[in-house]
Amino acid sequence: MSTPTENVRTLPGDLEFLTPHCPICGDYTDVYPDGLQCDRCGIAWDSDGTNPERLDPDAKQCSSLYRPTRRCANPEHVDVEYRCWQDAGHLGDDHHNPDLFYSWTTAEQVAPAGVER
Ligand SMILES: [Zn+2]
Ligand SMILES: [Zn+2]
Repeated sequence: MSTPTENVRTLPGDLEFLTPHCPICGDYTDVYPDGLQCDRCGIAWDSDGTNPERLDPDAKQCSSLYRPTRRCANPEHVDVEYRCWQDAGHLGDDHHNPDLFYSWTTAEQVAPAGVER
């Protein structure tokens, strides 16, 4: 049994290394044996973060469009439009574009691409 003079101290757990953020959705990428990957966005990189490739090269792009300033009184701002960079049919209701630091939902989108609005 230990006494206060033995200096028995509990060690913390192992360190968790953080992976780089996905440039599309902003989430941490996942580590795979041959590199890093964002399952949500369907992109894989080499272990050094280079050479991005689509997991499904034939996937169509999500059609969700977002115009955050469409009600702005300044007519120069009304045409600012973002299209989701994820694959069509991606998981979740959040759409992502790397030029926006936040996401939008299907309820907030203006229209799918190619639809008159
Ligand atoms: Zn992502
Ligand atoms: Zn989307």
